[in-house]
Amino acid sequence: GATIGILGGGQLGRMLSVAAARLGFRTHIFEPGAEPPAGHVAHRVTTASYEDAAALAAFAEAVDVVSYEFENIPTTALDAIEAIRPIRPGRRALAVSQDRLIEKAFLTDLGLATAPFAAVDDEVDLAEAIAEIGTPAILKTRRFGYDGKGQERLLVPEHGARALNAMDGAPAILEGVVEFGQEISVIAARGLTGEVACYDPGTNVHREGILRSTTVPAPLTAAQRTDAVILAGRILNALHYVGVMGVELFVTESGLVVNEIAPRVHNSGHWTQDGCVIDQFEQHIRAIAGWPMGDGTRHSDIEMENLIGDDMDRVPDLAARPDCALHIYGKAEVKPGRKMGHVNRRLGPAG
Ligand code: ATP
Ligand code: MG
Ligand code: MG
Repeated sequence: GATIGILGGGQLGRMLSVAAARLGFRTHIFEPGAEPPAGHVAHRVTTASYEDAAALAAFAEAVDVVSYEFENIPTTALDAIEAIRPIRPGRRALAVSQDRLIEKAFLTDLGLATAPFAAVDDEVDLAEAIAEIGTPAILKTRRFGYDGKGQERLLVPEHGARALNAMDGAPAILEGVVEFGQEISVIAARGLTGEVACYDPGTNVHREGILRSTTVPAPLTAAQRTDAVILAGRILNALHYVGVMGVELFVTESGLVVNEIAPRVHNSGHWTQDGCVIDQFEQHIRAIAGWPMGDGTRHSDIEMENLIGDDMDRVPDLAARPDCALHIYGKAEVKPGRKMGHVNRRLGPAG
């Protein structure tokens, strides 16, 4: 059987490994950190740094195709791997999603709506950006942000100096605050031959910058639902994408606004594990392995809730409930703000 290489050994790599095993593949994880959650279920783990060219080459030689569970992989590591094996999703999707400025420019070029934005490298840029965009606004680092980290809100222009300080010299982007009714995401997949399959959009609720829950179906009009799916398909096609992507959207009175894209399986797609016959993890493995796309039809209404830090204390109660499916990541240590698992609660048959 074929072996799938995965960069990153967190919960996404773990759940990808489980799905891959079910389809008869082996997985080989590349992860610098100790005790990766994916290590318990993968066939093999390489613990090495992304600077270690020899380890990267040996990893690539040992697998048939390489995918990843996070987007901030150093370019040099990607170059080393790509000289030996294909990387799916491809480099363009990574380049676009690694940098919020490039991402916004890509989306705007496609004719899609985003928050108003401007690049900010220094005080002069910031003053110009505030003059153009106004407040409230959000200053974000262009790279490496996740779970709301690397972001500062400017309620008034006078907050600019403090916000810029918090960027610590990193290149940033100022975004106007979008007034949205709800946040949704579309989990979309594109196969090697170009077929696109989308899951139903779910409503996302965040707390302190971290995703708390995703509920499907999202309360949307038929037109909004269609718009969301068409928009996601356009993004995937433009990138010649292969794999699953998470597309985060704001639903506003004047239509859908794209927040960001993630070139991988996505936390807001975890509901598919218990809401669909083929979940996002299997769909991603199918895509990168060149299989046909599975049927993403939703059979149940689901509320996915992340179990963060001490939420783990609720596991015994949740385990006793007939409507809850638990997914625990097996992380060595509970820490505040750390995603330890999630629970999919079945609300009923697909409505
Ligand atoms: P993730 O963990 O999803 O990768 P992230 O750290 O990349 O998150 P964003 O998705 O950019 O951060 O922002 C986190 C949340 O902050 C969004 O889901 C949304 O609730 C809010 N937010 C971000 N940008 C805007 C904006 N321009 N207007 C309104 N709300 C915003
Ligand atoms: Mg993000
Ligand atoms: Mg986000």
